Amino acid sequence: MKISPRLTLNNGVMIDRLGFGLYKVPPAEAAGLVTMALEAGYRHFDTASMYGNETGVGKGIGALSAFGGGAGGSGELAGTLTRQDVFVTTKVWNDDHGYDATMRAFDTSMSNLGLDYLDLYLIHWPCAKRGLFTGTYRAMETLYREGRVRAIGVSNFQPEHLDFLLEKAEVVPAVNQIELHPWLQQEQLREKHAALGIRTEAWSPLGRGQVLADPVILALAAEHERTPAQIILRWHLQLGQIAIPKASSSARLRENRGIFDFELSATDLADIAGLERGFRTGSHPDNVT
Ligand code: NDP
Repeated sequence: MKISPRLTLNNGVMIDRLGFGLYKVPPAEAAGLVTMALEAGYRHFDTASMYGNETGVGKGIGALSAFGGGAGGSGELAGTLTRQDVFVTTKVWNDDHGYDATMRAFDTSMSNLGLDYLDLYLIHWPCAKRGLFTGTYRAMETLYREGRVRAIGVSNFQPEHLDFLLEKAEVVPAVNQIELHPWLQQEQLREKHAALGIRTEAWSPLGRGQVLADPVILALAAEHERTPAQIILRWHLQLGQIAIPKASSSARLRENRGIFDFELSATDLADIAGLERGFRTGSHPDNVT
């Protein structure tokens, strides 16, 4: 099964199925890691205002590209990339829910990133008890209509949050970014997304590294002569979802991209389906207020 490296969101915008996630990347290291990731072939970057590293992400992208406005950086890619070659996601944080606060938060993020438009803007957590996420989303719809962001979506939304949002929304979210890996397979949400035309984006796609030691994953890695990370990331691809693994070295960044030239069989997929155990590396969305 040949899988193209990109897929199309519900508004026609293309996104790389494999991105680089920057949660817990220290601000001072973000620019260097983004540069390293660009050199390893990554074009899709996932940050958030809460990560505190948007400025570094913007510097890393700008340093290697013509649109950076600087000296063009150094290295093999210097000056060769255009704005259209990269896809940047950031997220509005929990303290900035509501229409006006979200508009302000967007401006701050864009100033940090040094970009004049964003590719994907997400609501980081629904914080449903605050009762504000529809106002947050309305601001995102405004930004979308104004052309300041190419696609909008949500993160950590449960089925009932999606239902509530869709009663009011005019733009169907392009993605729901959720915790998803072989120990937390999110079958109900994946089915709902498919029915609604929302792409599933997996955060902690490697279970924050913990699923790499699963014996079934290790056995599949041995059988396919691949690494455990490659087995898990290939599983994400074959399920049709976007994945944004974090890694801190050029070797791992490159390893994690080595997933387009082998295939898991139906039996392999069934073996991985059997690993579900409701294990979360992060919070349950109902507990994030
Ligand atoms: P991941 O599942 O991506 O796991 C990252 C861990 O796996 C790191 O410890 C990394 O180590 C290790 N790792 C990566 N590649 C390999 C490899 N090839 N071999 C061995 N170990 C490896 O977890 P994250 O929680 O970081 O999730 C990824 C991204 O998802 C985040 O960076 C963020 O962008 C997003 N996210 C979104 C959330 C949301 O609420 N929307 C919440 C959490 C994450 P090392 O870094 O040392 O190389």
